Order: sequence, then structure tokens, then C-alpha cells
Amino acid sequence: MKYISSRNRSCRMDSHEAIIRGLSEDGGLFTPESFPDEIQPEDILNKDYRGIAEVILKAMLDDYSSEEIRHCVDSAYDEKFDTPEIVPLTPVHDGWLMELWHGPTSAFKDLALTILPHLLTTAYAKDDRSDVVSILTATSGDTGKAALSGFADVPNTAITVFYPEIGVSAVQKRQMNTSKGNNVEVIAVKGNFDDCQRMVKEACASEEVLAACRGVTISSANSINAGRLIPQIVYYFHSYAQLVQQGTIAWGDPVNFSVPTGNFGDILAGWLAKQIGLPVNRLICASNTNNVLTDFLATGTYSLDRKFHTTMSPSMDILISSNLERLLFLLSGQDDRQIAAWMKQLKEEGSYTVGPEIHEKLKADFAGAWTSEEECAAVIHDLWHDEHVLIDPHTAVALSAMRRYREKTGDMTPCIVLSTASPYKFCHDVLECISGKNIPDDFEAMEVLHEVTGMPIPVNLRNLKELPVRFTRSIAIEDGMHVIADRMRSLGHVQD
Ligand SMILES: *Cc1c(COP(=O)(O)O)cnc(C)c1O
Repeated sequence: MKYISSRNRSCRMDSHEAIIRGLSEDGGLFTPESFPDEIQPEDILNKDYRGIAEVILKAMLDDYSSEEIRHCVDSAYDEKFDTPEIVPLTPVHDGWLMELWHGPTSAFKDLALTILPHLLTTAYAKDDRSDVVSILTATSGDTGKAALSGFADVPNTAITVFYPEIGVSAVQKRQMNTSKGNNVEVIAVKGNFDDCQRMVKEACASEEVLAACRGVTISSANSINAGRLIPQIVYYFHSYAQLVQQGTIAWGDPVNFSVPTGNFGDILAGWLAKQIGLPVNRLICASNTNNVLTDFLATGTYSLDRKFHTTMSPSMDILISSNLERLLFLLSGQDDRQIAAWMKQLKEEGSYTVGPEIHEKLKADFAGAWTSEEECAAVIHDLWHDEHVLIDPHTAVALSAMRRYREKTGDMTPCIVLSTASPYKFCHDVLECISGKNIPDDFEAMEVLHEVTGMPIPVNLRNLKELPVRFTRSIAIEDGMHVIADRMRSLGHVQD
């Protein structure tokens, strides 16, 4: 099985090479060229999370040996997660919540970022490379901490995270600045998220930086890396198998999934699961007031001509959903030229329109729905008061989308809602939703939320206030290339 660039099919390679490269040079995303044989029930049923992960990853990353896959899986999905189930299912009266936030940073990105470092270092070992893999990551909050935690003290890797000085929450900032590990560095940037992202992209092509990279290769932990996408297929199979084992459904019965969507990585993994045999009826693409995807699914036109909103569910505050490109590539019969043309149009004119054939295919597998801030707050409030289940705003958006979809279509297929963050990551908003109390200090709000609900605070968040702050550096945007070059020189030196 090969991976090919969505903008140039002749750029074709094994999965481990695609994971090392991250993004293709033509700007395209590495996408599976073909799919393995369908996964059978006996491959999946009566296995734990690790067992299922081995089956799915071996099928999708077939140039890794079984031993290599097992090593990666066992290194990732262990006691770092606060429950042996790794991803538990919690019933609510009209569906199930797939809890993806039991990992080391309490966000769903842990499921991919705990295994990516191992897939990456294994890939390097396969190619007999001994250079230091230097991960540069720009973050608006969640990805930074999950990547820092995943790469901490992983041999032959180093990670540097850039975050906007203003724009991340107090909890997120403290999570990053207290990171452990001898190979990590966290730097605040006097700018916004786009400035951080631009800095990282520029570094990959900067003469000054590249000259400083002796024995060091720059790579990315961004959600466009195939090594982040593929591990996300696992939890779709795992949750389905749980419902079969409970006797709620029989293997082969269709289910729907409602997915709070930003960069389209999570929901695309659900679609990939369907391609390799998971009986998925529809994937509900849930958005907040930044509803570019709802409109796209309804009309076939992707348009950036809209206002950007800051919401309670910041990981979905996004206008350009990168992973959508992979879906369009596969739905168009791998039409790389068409994809390159659409992406160019999006960049230059701010929109593109897919033809009726692709639009029909999109509508067969996906439905879009969006949720206002008021509705999101009401969903959090009601679920707590009616069922004593506490959810974060991203999860609330997805639960609301499921209900909207059902009202509109009458499709009552059993539905699993992806719950992507612990409510304790958004204490101020969640507390206000359930009690009306407005406590601006997130750490104080955390204590009060605990008193009001009795729900345990995840260990990584509970201890946060007491952990020593290790990183306080803040830089101006224009110093970025010098700072990165210095960091690369120091990493090369360590290797000498
Ligand atoms: C990143 C993130 C999402 C969006 O996932 P995508 O794969 O980018 O669509 C949703 N919820 C939370 C809490 C996240 O951190």
C-alpha cells in the first residue's frame, strides 16, 4: 500500500516515508492510494484498544513489521491514559459519548500524538538514519501540549513549540510552560497564531535555519501528517466493537457518528474506517458559528468570504479545513490536477465549487450541522441537570448537531458522539453554563467546578498550579529565524 500526494500522484511512497516527510513538496497531503481488505469482526471483537490498534495500523501502514507496530502501540497506549479502556463509551439518553480525553493532556489529540513519535522514530530506524528529528510546532493551544507530552524524552527527537502570547487560555499556557523532558522547548511569540504558523513554515525553507541544521532534520507534528491521521481510525472500530459486545447492536448494523470538526482530521478518520469495512451510515460534521463546512456540505461551494468568530469551542474556530483536501482527492478518483486547481482557487479567489457528482458523493456519507453559542451553553446545562453528565463545549456542539440532524432527517440510526476534550479544559465556560457563576480565573473556576459537580479533575490538570514553570521566554516575530537557527545548532551539538 502506497501513499501519494493529493496534488501530484506520481509523488508516491511507503507510509513510513510519508510520515517522515509530513507534507509533500507540492503542498499536497499524503493520502492512501488504495485500501486494504475489509476488516472482519473476528479481527476486532474481544480485543482491547491496543489489540484493535495493532490490527488497524498493520493494515494501513503495511511497510511496518508487526513487531514494529506492536512496539509503537504498546509505547503509546499505556498508563499515560487514566483508564485501562483508553477510550470509554458513556451512555446518554439518546446516544453514546466516545470519551477521547483520558490521555496525558485531556484532549483527543493525545490519541494520535502519543503514538506519532514512535511511528516517526521507528521510521527513522528503518531507513538507518541517526539524525535528530526536530519537531517545530505552532499551536493555538491543544496541539502544543499534546505534542510536548508525546515527544518528551523520546530518543533522537526534540520539540519546539511556538504559541501566541495572547490567545491561549491560562490553563493551556501553564500546561505548556510546565512541560517536562530534556528535549523540549516552549516559546511565546509576540503575535497571533497565524504569525506562529508562518514562522514555522518559513523556518523549513530559511537559509539561515537550514545552514544551522547539522545532523538535524526538521519535521512537523501538524495534523496533516499521515502518522496522525491513521491512528484516529482505531477508536471508531473500538467504539463499534464495544456496542457489539454489549449486545446493543449486531456486527453489520449501521451506526452514525457525530464529530466536532475543525481541521477535518478526526471525521476523515471515520470515513477511512468506513472504507475498510466499518458499517458507518453517516458522519455528522458538527461546527460552531464558524460554519464554513456546514455551508460547503449543503451547497458544494467552499467560501472564505465570511466573518471569523471566537467561540467557546476554540479548536473548531477555523476557516480552512486542511484535511478536506484528502477527502476530495479520494472522492474525485484521485484527480490530482483538479485538487491542485481548487486549492489554488481557494488561495487566490477565496472559494471553489465541486461538481454535482462529488457533491452527491459527499452528501451520501456526510451531513453538516452547526450550533450557536446559546444552544451550546443550553446543551451543557441540560445534560448536566438532566443526566448528571458533564461535557465540554466541543462535545456539546457535536451532541447538538446529532439532534439537529435527527430532527431534520428522521434518521434515528444509533449515534456515537465524539467527546474531544475534558470539561476541565474549559472550566470558566463550563461552570458558567451549568451554574451561571462567572469566575474569570481558570484555576479558581476549576476548584469551584469540582465542588459543584464532584466530577474528578484529571491529574494532569489538578497538579498544574503547583508544577514549576520551566519556560518563560517570549520573542518578537522578527527574531524567529535567529531563535530557531540557534536551537538547531544546539541540537546538532548534543548529537556530536
Ligand atoms: C482539534 C480538536 C477538534 C477538531 O478536530 P479536527 O481533527 O481538527 O477536525 C475538536 N475538538 C477538540 C477539543 C480539539 O482539540
